[in-house]
Order: sequence, then C-alpha cells, then structure tokens
Amino acid sequence: MTLERFDVEAIRREFPVLHQEVHGKPLVYLDSAASCQKPQSVIDAIGRFYAHDYANIHRGLHSLSERATHQFEAVREKVRGFINASDVHEIVFVRGATEGINLVARSWGSRYLGPGDEVLLSAMEHHANIVPWQMICQERGARVRVIPMNDRGELELDRLAELVNDRTRLIGLVHVSNALGTVNDVRKVIEHAHGRGIPVLLDAAQSVPHSRVDVQELGCDFLVFSGHKTYGPTGCGVLYGRQILLEAMPPFQGGGDMIRSVSFEETTYNKSPWRFEAGTPDIAGFIGLGAAIDWIERVGIEAIGAHEADLLDHALSRLDEVPGMRKIGEARQRAGAISFTLDGIHPHDLGTILDREGIAVRVGHHCAQPIMRHFGVQATARASFAAYNTRADVDALIDGIHVVREFFGA
Ligand code: PMP
Repeated sequence: MTLERFDVEAIRREFPVLHQEVHGKPLVYLDSAASCQKPQSVIDAIGRFYAHDYANIHRGLHSLSERATHQFEAVREKVRGFINASDVHEIVFVRGATEGINLVARSWGSRYLGPGDEVLLSAMEHHANIVPWQMICQERGARVRVIPMNDRGELELDRLAELVNDRTRLIGLVHVSNALGTVNDVRKVIEHAHGRGIPVLLDAAQSVPHSRVDVQELGCDFLVFSGHKTYGPTGCGVLYGRQILLEAMPPFQGGGDMIRSVSFEETTYNKSPWRFEAGTPDIAGFIGLGAAIDWIERVGIEAIGAHEADLLDHALSRLDEVPGMRKIGEARQRAGAISFTLDGIHPHDLGTILDREGIAVRVGHHCAQPIMRHFGVQATARASFAAYNTRADVDALIDGIHVVREFFGA
C-alpha cells in the first residue's frame, strides 16, 4: 500500500477500540508510543488460538500441544523474516524490550564486564536501557558512560572518538527516542564500534513499529522491541542477538524449557534461543504477535512510516501556531512522537483537560528522566502516532490545547 493508496479510514475500521466516546467526545488516541491499539485480526488470532489450539508448548506429544508448538515456533520464523535476521536461532522470545535488555545486561554483562570496563549509552535512553546497565556495572566494578546530546535533542556523535576507548565493552543506543522522537544515526555508531570490535545493542522499541528495521543491513549485534507497541499484545517481545554472541552467553533465568538435562549434581543447558526462555511463555501473546506482523506486512511498514511522517509534519506546523508552545526536541531526523510544554500550564493539567475532550496523550517523564533534566523540565506532554491516526486527530489535539489555554486564561 503506497501513501496514495493508504486508506486510513479502512485501517481505522479494523481497530474496534477507536470507535468509542470518552467523556462524550469521540476518542482521539495519540498515545501509541506508550502502547499501540490492536487490529481485529490480532484480537481474533488470540481468541481462535484459545478456542481451538491452546495447550502448553514444547513438552507435549498430544495433538493440541503439537499444534500450539508449531504455531508458536512459526511466529519465531515470522519475526526472523520481519527483521531479516539470518537465522531463527537468533530470535529470543522475551516479555518486552525491557526484559530483552535485562537479559543481555545480566547474561552478556556477567560474562564480559569486569572492573574498569565501560558501557557506553546515550543521553536519550529510556530507563529500560539505563538501569539494567547500572545494575550489572555496579556488580562487576564497571561503569556507564554517556554520549551527550545537544539542545535540539540530537546525539553528539562527533564525540564518539573521544568516548570510545579500549575499556569500552558495549554500546547501547536507542534507535528512535520515545520522548523526543529523534531518529539516531545508528549506522554511524555501529560502524565506529565495529571498527574497534565493540558490540552494539539497539533499543528498537520505537523504530520497529514505524520503519523497516533490517538487522543484517544495520549490522547491530543485539536488538530489542516490544509486541505491544507493534500492534501486538502485551507480554511478548523480541531480543535479536547474533548467533555467535548468544551461543557464548550463559542462561538468564533457570527453569523448564531452557535445559538439556537436570540432576542435583549437574544441569546442562539447551541451545539458544531456548536457553534464554525459561518457563511457560505468553504463548497466546506470541500468536497475537504473529498476527500483528502479518497485519503490518499487509498494510506495508513503508506506507505506515510515510503516513506517520505526514502526520508529524502536519502536527509540527500546527503546534507552531499555539502561543506559549515549547517543543522538547527538534531533531532534524525524527519519527513517531512529539513532546511539548505550554507556558504556565502543568503537563498533568494539560493531559487531564485533554482527556475531558476525548484526547489521549501521555504526560510525565516518559521513563526518560535524564532527558527531562537536560531540557530543564519535570515532565512534558507527548502526542504519538500510529497507522490509524489522521490529520483530523492532529487538528482535534490543537483544538483541545486551545480549550486548555482558555481554561487557564492563557
Ligand atoms: N525503550 C523505549 C525507547 C521505549 O519507548 C520503551 C517503552 N516506553 C521501552 C524501551 C520499554 O518497553 P517495554 O515497557 O515494552 O518493555
């Protein structure tokens, strides 16, 4: 589906939740960066699976278990194709981006980080790509260093040469910032890192739902994303890891499914990716993720990205009309989300009154307090877009902001 053929009204019809009133006003959902809504095909796939095929996976010989296992593992292959990993063994199923990063920090970090080593992150990471590294660094006597950003909300990548040194063990970087919408030049970072044999982890939670992410083309070593931000259910996410790295990593959690054999004297472990998947996963959630990927491929991720870019342009220019508007983050390459504050109006008041108008935006620190600190604010309001949003949604947001301004006499 190209942009000319991108029929947003047809797309909207596939999302039942959008067709409701909130406080007597038609819902305008502008919070997809926090979690995105689900098309009927995803909802149906989960229902169908529970109604016809549900059983636990991997350990059963009976028909339902075989069917469930087959469908679950077929999703792994679907994810592989979606991000163009070279091998299905590189796709680890996790609960979400957060668990994926924790897995790498804990497993890879416990093997490869030692006293004096450094993990290089960026100033615009989500807490999910800060805290796990602080925890493991503290344990191993290593430290976190930070690639700074400028006041437009762009990383100062020219400083890579001075920040990367022979103690740098890994670079962790957000592909698209959830709080600023900045699209980072991850290729430049990967090139620099690989020139020095340093692996790179990409937090792609906000890029996979909006653009074609090809792990082989990017050349990243690890990548994570969340199902619930990608038109899929909660409770499912993906860690991609290059096979050679995953095979050398110790288990993350212990339990069923991740073992080859267990005795009280000695336990041996399964191969990757199952080595990292202890216990019963959210089986139906992953079935839903498979349906979500089918949905995205049917609409076309490029068409979704182009549609959202149009909404973003429209929103950026319309927000400029609002007196007292301060955009937080004005990167030249951006996607998905816009953060802003209004002079004299607390973002929480803004969010509450917008909700009374039926408009859902996120307000707060967006799990990115270092970004808030950089810009000298406690919180921002954030509008974010998905395939089902329209220019009329953006216009409703602007009208809603004027209602808020009138309320405060601004
Ligand atoms: N990274 C980024 C950039 C995010 O936007 C989010 C979710 N806000 C996460 C990581 C964490 O995702 P999840 O809560 O689904 O694990």
